Amino acid sequence: MDFLELWGNNGDLHLDSSIGPSVKVNGMELSSPELRGNIARFFCQPWWGRLWTVQEFILAKKIFFQSGRCTLSGDLPGKCVQHLRKHTSAMCCTQLSSIMRLTDSQTGLCLMDAMSKPNLLEHARFNRFHRPFYYILQLFRHLECTDPRDKIYDMLNLAIGPYMDLILPDYTRSLESVLTLATISIVERSQSLHIFSLLHYGRRNLTKLPSFVPDLTESVLLDANRLEHTDRVEMVRLFRASGDSKSDLRLVSTTKASTSGFIFDSVSAVGIPLGASSLENWRTLAQVDDDPDASYPQTDVSRETAFWQTLCGGSVGAIVRGEYEFEGVDDRTGYQMYQQWIAWVTAPHDSIEQKSLTSLDGIDFNTAYLAAAVGHRFFVTQNGYFGLAPATTSTRDYVTILAGGPVPYILRPVSDEVSIEYIHGTATSALGYRILGDAYVHGIMDGELSNRKFEDIVLV
Ligand SMILES: [Zn+2]
Repeated sequence: MDFLELWGNNGDLHLDSSIGPSVKVNGMELSSPELRGNIARFFCQPWWGRLWTVQEFILAKKIFFQSGRCTLSGDLPGKCVQHLRKHTSAMCCTQLSSIMRLTDSQTGLCLMDAMSKPNLLEHARFNRFHRPFYYILQLFRHLECTDPRDKIYDMLNLAIGPYMDLILPDYTRSLESVLTLATISIVERSQSLHIFSLLHYGRRNLTKLPSFVPDLTESVLLDANRLEHTDRVEMVRLFRASGDSKSDLRLVSTTKASTSGFIFDSVSAVGIPLGASSLENWRTLAQVDDDPDASYPQTDVSRETAFWQTLCGGSVGAIVRGEYEFEGVDDRTGYQMYQQWIAWVTAPHDSIEQKSLTSLDGIDFNTAYLAAAVGHRFFVTQNGYFGLAPATTSTRDYVTILAGGPVPYILRPVSDEVSIEYIHGTATSALGYRILGDAYVHGIMDGELSNRKFEDIVLV
């Protein structure tokens, strides 16, 4: 705690003693395993893993941490994170990034994981006024609570603007009903389907929960990918696939909802899920190299351009007003970033190219690539479009545009073939569809299809 205090109060002190005055307590510095172990143990306290502590921290007028006989002012862990970021981006403390990744043997936690906990709280405190309530839900969905209904109820005090008084806490309701009501209410308040980007996260636990309701009790498949899933929620705000339409999603029974929308295309082939050799597999599927002059459907861009823009979900990471956000990718500078990135991903492990990414623009491409591709796989449609769809997508599924949806969504007919009817030449399922999650489909992200006629689609 003494170390955190010194660290948080002295942003100019380095964290690497080889280059100048550094943070040091009782002769120990950040390179000392004993000190890192103590820091890790502090951030392993159950307080950091519980959901109700989020509103306690964010709404408190004055905060301090008490551990044994030590007291620490509540703003200091956040300041430590700021100073960490400062010395990382200034690239003065050269050993810092490797020290941050060393795992403490007792807690199994490295400094990077430990500091991500106060970082998340500070991030939420700052962003609560700039980002919608579903973003805050996403940020903390991995934290624990005894009664899973508190996944919603514990967060209600953090809702501001249109999300205030979202629902009334009522412990006679079932968990499924609480999650469903909160989802519908968020759609109504935002007049959009942005919350559908919280759907594809892990493996769903609640078997009775309708597919259009995010299962906040599920855990992410790979904890390391938690932030990428959250980045994705932020990333989809760039798009307007359904034009200026507003969502009319409404419950028609406790487990069914109706929405306006239309089926645009069907999935004709899927690539392997994101992994070591997925890039090569996806490129083959995109037929980039088959005919270099062939252009992408309904556009004058080459398949190569469409392909690399798909990999980064049509966007790149950028610092906007002091915060890391996403912005639309532009053909020229985006392509330079892509080239730096591809040189990095294809370089041999431990080579200079591999280690140099942090100093390259390619890192902003990489952030976007992970946000777009984690939990997703490449796919091709019947009409020759391609994009990234949830990893569970198969050739039974449809690409759809739904009113108020910033991006296309992948739907799977619930019924077998018997109940698929053809209305206006498009297959439609009489029993409704399960929604698998959101997708990036190159060429239809900016309202290109918004003049198409909407029909009623039932989600279950
Ligand atoms: Zn430094």
